[in-house]
Amino acid sequence: MSFLIIPENEVPIVKIETAKNVSLYMKREDLIHPQISGNKFWKLFFNINNYLEKNFKKPLLITFGGAFSNHIAAVSELGKLAQIQTLGMIRGEELSEKIIENPTLLFAQKNGMNLRFVSREIYRNKEKLTEYLQEEFPHALIIPEGGTNSDAVKGVKMMLSNQTKEFDYLCTAVGTGGTVAGLSAYCEDNQKVLGFNVVRDDSLSEKVLKLSGKQNFSLIDASYGGYGKISNENIRFINDFKSKTDIALEPIYTGKMIQKIFEMIAEDFFPENSKILCFHTGGLQGIAGANDMLRRKNRNLIV
Ligand SMILES: *Cc1c(COP(=O)(O)O)cnc(C)c1O
Repeated sequence: MSFLIIPENEVPIVKIETAKNVSLYMKREDLIHPQISGNKFWKLFFNINNYLEKNFKKPLLITFGGAFSNHIAAVSELGKLAQIQTLGMIRGEELSEKIIENPTLLFAQKNGMNLRFVSREIYRNKEKLTEYLQEEFPHALIIPEGGTNSDAVKGVKMMLSNQTKEFDYLCTAVGTGGTVAGLSAYCEDNQKVLGFNVVRDDSLSEKVLKLSGKQNFSLIDASYGGYGKISNENIRFINDFKSKTDIALEPIYTGKMIQKIFEMIAEDFFPENSKILCFHTGGLQGIAGANDMLRRKNRNLIV
């Protein structure tokens, strides 16, 4: 495979039981590809296909991510499958000595991704870093953190279909905002988009508005103590959800989104008979890294 191909079968939309008079469904984008998971598949779709069409002799994908990044994992797998070089710029110099104990970075490295570790300070200034990298590698495709850019937003359109049109609310977890922007840009006029923000970032709303061009979305705080923080209550919720539905959630994005949706249903946020669709955006590779951390702290694990 050298290009990303739209899978023949649409992923399923499954019903999730709730205690109230609303209907909640989940679109299983996590099933789209075993390693290029969920929204990352669609966010990379046009980015990579447009780039490969240019037929560079030595194509190179460069991108950015933190220690447990689903995006880094996805891009490394894509590099392996498409047989193109990948370079991951990783936040945190200290991680260079911890690749072995980090399932995400180990996976990326085994896929052939070169890893460069940069200080948080340098990482924060990604615009400058991107400029330097593009000078160093003029033919490279540099994909921003989380894969969010205008081609990513176009790719998210593919998460919508005839079947998603019948819902009143479309819900997704929000990290860098590309996914919620895509849903907002391409959903039906009568649909409302709810983005469950797992990072505390006040500038996100403006960023999403810029990418989507529409006002039909709201961002809801679902950070539960901050990005990457995992409470015992989060773990209990994820494990309980898994035992009831047989659907796995990871603790950084989807676990927090679904937990928040259940809280909002309990508080009657949604009018009676509302039809709610949430997107399972994948990222289950992150569970292993989270469990390593929890194990070291002698805490309950995600099962
Ligand atoms: C990256 C990611 C998100 C956030 O998507 P953005 O487009 O960056 O907002 C949500 N869920 C999962 C599982 C992810 O890996």
